[in-house]
Amino acid sequence: MKTHRYANSLEEMSASCGAQRLACALCGSTDAQPVLEKRITGPGAALPFCLWRCAACGLVRTEPQLTLQELEPYYAEEYWGGATDPNWIRRDQRYRTGFLRRFRSEGSVLDVGCGLGFFLRAIDPKRWDRYGIEPMPVPYREAARSLGTDRILNTELIAAGLPARRFDVITFWDSLEHLPNPRAILQEARRLLRPGGIILIGLPNFGSYQARHFGEDWFALSLPHHLCHYTRETLTRLVDHCGFRVRVMEDRSGPENYHALKHSLLNRLTRLHGPRGGRALYYAAKPFLHPWEWISTRWGGGSSLQVCAERVAAEAAGFAN
Ligand SMILES: [Zn+2]
Repeated sequence: MKTHRYANSLEEMSASCGAQRLACALCGSTDAQPVLEKRITGPGAALPFCLWRCAACGLVRTEPQLTLQELEPYYAEEYWGGATDPNWIRRDQRYRTGFLRRFRSEGSVLDVGCGLGFFLRAIDPKRWDRYGIEPMPVPYREAARSLGTDRILNTELIAAGLPARRFDVITFWDSLEHLPNPRAILQEARRLLRPGGIILIGLPNFGSYQARHFGEDWFALSLPHHLCHYTRETLTRLVDHCGFRVRVMEDRSGPENYHALKHSLLNRLTRLHGPRGGRALYYAAKPFLHPWEWISTRWGGGSSLQVCAERVAAEAAGFAN
């Protein structure tokens, strides 16, 4: 598989990425620079995907952006966590439910891109009126089986046409970066929230140490699934723009960050030294991973961000509702 180093010159990347074609999903500018290129083996031949950084607002996007139908073959069954360690899933959901409890203890919640429904299943049904949206058929079936077909919708958020001011909390756990139209999505979320409602967002941090250090090998890059790549700055700009105010934005550290570092390093070493040599080097480096994770997160930010943003009143946001 032909790959390109993160440190390729702008000229080299411009030549191989060609001209970018999309307007920025945040500010609409068409002025952008290539920052990274990676070839991904999909159902057919290996396709080159390029990341472009908007020259006006800094939001990074993937091109080409595949449609949901085109992406489906890239989502293998194991993508959905079906084969993942149950302890890992429990720990991950404990983190998310703990984050939710810091802001709300009951109400109605909509989980956008709910996957197999792990988050919804982890919150107390006596306190929470739980709903989810999942456009992909494989995880939808599992989520609907465990939570009920009346609670899980097999569609996209805007197409769902849900009633206004229906929810207290809307969550985007590792889903916003999969969407090509984040502005329209968050504006729709604002419409669906009651006054004072909140959104919770968890997504990879493109400004983190791991993203910068590992480039194309970064575990959370996840091409071609991730269409936009956010930093603290661009995510703040996006939520502000859509009528929300950030209450908390924090780096996620600990096990999740360690997991990302471990896989990023494995990706890097196997790419450079082949599967056997890469694994041998990885095991040699393993004792240093915990201190590496601890120091790099404090120095350069966690591999993912966790955000709570509050719906701003219409007058303050300059919105009609
Ligand atoms: Zn932009």
